[in-house]
Amino acid sequence: MDSFDCDLFVVGAGSGGVRAGRMAAARGARVIVAEGGALGGTCVNLGCIPKKLYSHAAHYGELFEESKGFGWSFGEPAFDWDRLKSRRATEIARLNGIYDGLLRNAGVQLVRGWASLVDGHTVDVAGADGSRQRFTARHILLATGGRPQAPSGPGAEHALTSDAMFDLDPFPRRLLVVGGGYIACEFASIFQGLGSQVTLVHRGPRLLRGFDEEVSAFASAEMQKKGLTVRLDCTIADVQKAGAAQVVRLSDGSTVEVDAVLHATGRRAFTGGLGLEALGITPHADGTVPVDERFRTKVASVFAIGDLVGHKALTPVALAEGMAVVDHLFGDGKRPPIDYGAVATAVFTHPNIGTVGMSEEHARKTVGEVRIFRAEFKALRHTLSDSTERTLMKIVVDAATDRVLGMHMVGADAGEVIQGFAVAVQAGLTKAQIDRTIGIHPTVAEEFVTMR
Ligand code: NDP
Repeated sequence: MDSFDCDLFVVGAGSGGVRAGRMAAARGARVIVAEGGALGGTCVNLGCIPKKLYSHAAHYGELFEESKGFGWSFGEPAFDWDRLKSRRATEIARLNGIYDGLLRNAGVQLVRGWASLVDGHTVDVAGADGSRQRFTARHILLATGGRPQAPSGPGAEHALTSDAMFDLDPFPRRLLVVGGGYIACEFASIFQGLGSQVTLVHRGPRLLRGFDEEVSAFASAEMQKKGLTVRLDCTIADVQKAGAAQVVRLSDGSTVEVDAVLHATGRRAFTGGLGLEALGITPHADGTVPVDERFRTKVASVFAIGDLVGHKALTPVALAEGMAVVDHLFGDGKRPPIDYGAVATAVFTHPNIGTVGMSEEHARKTVGEVRIFRAEFKALRHTLSDSTERTLMKIVVDAATDRVLGMHMVGADAGEVIQGFAVAVQAGLTKAQIDRTIGIHPTVAEEFVTMR
């Protein structure tokens, strides 16, 4: 037992910080977690959870329409944005309480306030009431996540970030979204599904850079079939306020009038106020904090995980990184290293995108000869729903070894389907093993095991 106030001081009670704090406490460590904002961080309050709830809300609009083909009839469905917002807020408050309970039940001391590092073993926490507390710690874990990139360029002063979208008032009947990444595509799909007329403006030639090219083109086409307008190789040239509306002139010469403009142009690691400079920790140019393979910063007692480090800005990755640090500090250190290449992910566009492993382009570049298996079809449900939605499934296989390098899907519940296959890909799945698998009929997922 040493003279520190705790064994681990965690800065930030988001997904990674809470998991690390709880797991360290479960291994007998004395843990303090500091949080200045709402418990649960981005994922619970302004990211994954409310976004997915809104994505479900948006999907109902389509389902009402599709149900008519199955014999249902009813009056005109009406959507109440205020009711959705208030129900979401209630659920998020419940989750905040659950996070509080999880920490307390694990024996973690929760300190409310913003933390800054004094040295490699000392943290000051400034409370909202002006109080200041000082703690010493054997180890410090930074898990402060990220924040949306501030809007820039013409009209930036009127633009919103994703943080503002959940409580927007009033509901934007017409929305312009700037960006072509996860957040731009998801919010464009969600608001289009809820009834907005959405224009998605992206500076590049295709959406979702880094995803399989065929997947991003297919998803973009499906999103447009649902009514979304996508403008590629396009930027904002000028924005003029017109009462509550904004008149946006685009670089292609067209003009669009909207009620709100969302800039979803990336997120940046949140290091504000941490005092890293004083410790000699210099963030990379993109704001992320440099760490070694054990998530240790250049100060031996200070670790960093999650979006702050930016290996992959995904909640489950932050959890895994938090567990890796805890295992190293308080466990037997035998946890295998995180395999970032096999991290599955989903984009909750309509339809969803699910993906694990390499895109066709990446595979061709890294392993050379690949075999591609693909299926594109209308799902059984849509034979009666009258929806024109189509599904794409694709498997990328190393021709020399038969190893499955990547699996991709655009279609209903793509994330749910890919999650199962991700286990197999992680375990070294071969195409021959897929071929030996008997499908579940009739499902959409069975198409993955019938491709020849
Ligand atoms: P991304 O990095 O995914 O996308 C940013 C987009 O903005 C890119 O299309 C980029 O274009 C464009 N962009 C960047 N700067 C500018 C600019 N100055 N002007 C115009 N366009 C610009 O960031 P997101 O904010 O969408 O998401 C951040 C991360 O959060 C994701 O990468 C993901 O890891 C995570 N996330 C995960 C989700 C999920 O799992 N479902 C959901 C939401 C977020 P270009 O491609 O040309 O660089």
